[in-house]
Amino acid sequence: MPVAEARSGPGILEGLAERIARRIAHQGPMTLAEYMAVALGDPAQGYYMRGDPLGARGDFVTAPEISQMFGELLGLWCAETWSRMGAPDPVHLVELGPGRGTLMADALRALGRVPEFLGAVRLSLVEISPALRARQREALREILKPAALRRAPQWHETLDGVPRGPLLLIANEVFDALPIRQFVRKDGAWCERMVALDKDGRRLAFALRPARLEAAALLPPEAEAVPEGGTFEVSAAASGLAAEIGRRLAEDGGAALILDYGAARSPGEPTLQALRRHARHEVLSAPGTADLTAHVDFSALARGAEAAGARAWGPVPQGAFLSALGIEARAETLSRGLAPEKAKGIAADLARLTAPEHMGMLFKALALTHPGLGAPAGFGPGVA
Ligand code: SAH
Repeated sequence: MPVAEARSGPGILEGLAERIARRIAHQGPMTLAEYMAVALGDPAQGYYMRGDPLGARGDFVTAPEISQMFGELLGLWCAETWSRMGAPDPVHLVELGPGRGTLMADALRALGRVPEFLGAVRLSLVEISPALRARQREALREILKPAALRRAPQWHETLDGVPRGPLLLIANEVFDALPIRQFVRKDGAWCERMVALDKDGRRLAFALRPARLEAAALLPPEAEAVPEGGTFEVSAAASGLAAEIGRRLAEDGGAALILDYGAARSPGEPTLQALRRHARHEVLSAPGTADLTAHVDFSALARGAEAAGARAWGPVPQGAFLSALGIEARAETLSRGLAPEKAKGIAADLARLTAPEHMGMLFKALALTHPGLGAPAGFGPGVA
């Protein structure tokens, strides 16, 4: 497809969309995973490279941005797990995709009560976005002023850069941003949904291509349950990252806590969505300007980590998990002595995080541990 055509007339493509169109014109349709990787991570124009997408004025709100209780409880979960691990010193406390740094700042503040843990912590933040790294630095600067940690936090592009050793890892709403591929069952055979150009070569458009071999290589047995016309999503990046975490846990000891949204099993419905200013947006219409996420397939993460030698626990619904960690009592403590309006605000935050009709059910927590560690807090019998 001549490049000039993609530049002229109505439906004109600009910026990142135009670069993607040019690449498709030269190299043919791309997988959704390739599209997501560019739309989110392109070093110049990718969504996560452009600035801060979070919060009420951004595109989406996450649990730590709703309430300090979330980060506090996750911090205490880490301290509790650390003592189960035999209190290793040093221990690497790692957060993947820390956003504005809010979760970690709340966690460290709560951990002021466990100075022996803080003394052992080497903090690593794994973040691809330079703008968000700057926000994280700012969020942590205040908290770290009293020099709670013996070493300054380190930032890394990938988990690979984090030094080896016993590990406690947290990832909230990171796996949903990892690239997925979509396989569609059509006339009894698997096809893959690709990103192509429409017939004028002017717009990005979805197209199906036969993908029998790819499907045979990539899909798990449960994909067989997908009916005609149904979709099965797979993320090699997510499974690969879970396997990398699992390998580290098996070799170096420790635990990981992954929180995200997703059905426990992929149901045959496509879930990839674009969000801009809290509203749904067309997946292909303006790459780099909207967040792209898909439901996390927790069974795939658990399989990836267990194949690498770790043990998986859950997933447990976020509401049940936070309740098991004592979020109701924490909300009560925070509300004590507050004006009724403020106390109402805390009750509303609690409901947003835990009620089934808000984040309590769709969001889930999955723990990965060294196989000898036993059930971490919130994953014991009776939590579901
Ligand atoms: N955990 C935060 C932010 C969630 S948004 C919160 O709960 O508020 C997703 C975060 O993951 C952002 O910080 C984004 O820049 C980061 N991110 C996205 N893809 C990533 C990747 N491949 N590796 C590391 N971080 C990534």
